[in-house]
Amino acid sequence: MMTTRASLHTLGCRLNQAETSILGEGLKRKGFELVEFGQPTDLLVLNTCAVTEDAERTSRYLIRKTLKHSPHAFIAVTGCYAQTGMESLKQQAGIDLIVGHQFKLDLPAFLPPAHELRKRPAAEIRHAKAIERGDFELPYFAESEATRALLKIQDGCSAMCSFCIIPFARGHERSRTFEDIQREVEVLAARGYREVVLTGVNIGQYAHQGRDFCSLLRWFDQAAGFERIRISSIEPTTVGEELLDLLASSKKLCPYLHIPLQSGDDQILQAMNRRHTIKSYIKLIEKALVTIPNLGLGTDLMVGFPGETETAFQNTLAVATDFPFSYLHVFPYSSRPGTAAVRLKQRILPASIKKRADLLLALDRAKRLAFHNKQIGKTISVLFESGTRDGYSFGTASNFTRVGITVSGDFQNHILPVTITAATDRCAFGHITSDSQTNPAMAIPTL
Ligand code: SF4
Repeated sequence: MMTTRASLHTLGCRLNQAETSILGEGLKRKGFELVEFGQPTDLLVLNTCAVTEDAERTSRYLIRKTLKHSPHAFIAVTGCYAQTGMESLKQQAGIDLIVGHQFKLDLPAFLPPAHELRKRPAAEIRHAKAIERGDFELPYFAESEATRALLKIQDGCSAMCSFCIIPFARGHERSRTFEDIQREVEVLAARGYREVVLTGVNIGQYAHQGRDFCSLLRWFDQAAGFERIRISSIEPTTVGEELLDLLASSKKLCPYLHIPLQSGDDQILQAMNRRHTIKSYIKLIEKALVTIPNLGLGTDLMVGFPGETETAFQNTLAVATDFPFSYLHVFPYSSRPGTAAVRLKQRILPASIKKRADLLLALDRAKRLAFHNKQIGKTISVLFESGTRDGYSFGTASNFTRVGITVSGDFQNHILPVTITAATDRCAFGHITSDSQTNPAMAIPTL
C-alpha cells in the first residue's frame, strides 16, 4: 500500500518547535509517513508565527512554494498567524484547513485517515476567538531533537507588552498540569534524552495547584533521568533570588539565562509596557553574574520602537556594551495590528532601524567572541549532537557555548568534558580532556 507523506514546518519560537513535534507524533499515529520539509508531500502542516509582518509573509510564501512542487498537497495551517490572521489566510488559494490556537494540538484529529486525504473546495476553519484560560494537558508526547527534548510547561501571556501580538495569538497565561509534565518526563527519560529544555511563553509564571516555577525546578532537579535541565527565555520580573540560588547550587540546572531586555531606555520601556526599569534589570543581571559561575547570559533587544530617539537607542547600545551578555538577539520593531503600539506616533524611518540593528548585530558578534574567548582554558561539559561537519563534531555546553572538536568517534548524545583552546564568534573549539583521539592543536575552520 502507498504511504501518505506529511511534512511539517515551524516558524518562530522554541515553543512552536515543541508543538510541531507533538503534531508530528499525532500524524505518525494517524498513519502518515513524515518527510523532510521541502520534499514532495501529500500533506503540509505549517505552524506559523505572527510576531513580525515578515513571518506572516514567509508563511504565505511557503504555502505557494509547497503547492508548486506538490500541487495536490493538502495544506493545513496553524499557529499564531492562523489565530490572528485567519481572515487573510482564508483568502489565500490552496489552503484546506486553518486551525486556531485553541485547537492547535487537535489538528491531526481534524484530518481524515491518511489514505483518504483529499484537497477540499474551501478551507475548513477550526477557530475560537477567545482562547480558554484553564490549565492544560497535551494529547501526545513529542519526538524532540536528537539530544535535547523540548518540554512545554506553560502557554499564553497576560503581560500585554504594547508591541506584542502573543497575548492575542496564544491567550492568557496558563500552565500544564504537573501530573502531565511528570508523565512526559518519564517517557523522555526512557527515550534516552540527556537534556530537557523547558519551554513556554512566560515560563516564570508557571503555577499549578500551589506549585510555582521554582518548586517545579526543584522537582526537576531531583527527578531521575536527565543530566541537564535548561530554562528557555524568561521574563526579568519572574527571576528572583530563589531562582538564581537554585541555578547556582544545582548540578542539573544549566548555568544559562535568556532574559529579554528589549530597550536600554526607561521611557521606551514604559511605552512598551514592560514591567521592569533599566535599574531593576541591571540589578538583576549583576546579581545573576555574581551568583552563577560562568553564566551564559543572552537577551532580546528591539530597535525602532515608535519614539526611539537617537539618545534612547544610544542608551540601549550602552547597556548592551557595558554588560557581559554572551549574545544579543536583535529584532526590528514590526507594527502588529491590534496591539497598543500601533497607535503610537513618531515612527522611525526604516533606514534608521536598519542602521541601529546593524550596530547591535556587530556588537552581538563581538559579545559572542568575547564569551567564547572567556571559555579558553576552562573545561566545560558538552552534550554532542549527531554527525560531523568538516571533520568536526559539535555540541552545546551547559552555559550554551557552542563547541566543536575534531573527532574520530561518534559522540552523539554523550556529555563529555572539553577543554577549550580556541574561539571564533560562532563557536569555541577544544579537545575532550580525557581522550587522546582529538587534536588540541587544530586549525580553526571558518564556520
Ligand atoms: S512578556 Fe511581553 S513580549 Fe513576552 S510574550 Fe508576554 S506580552 Fe509578549
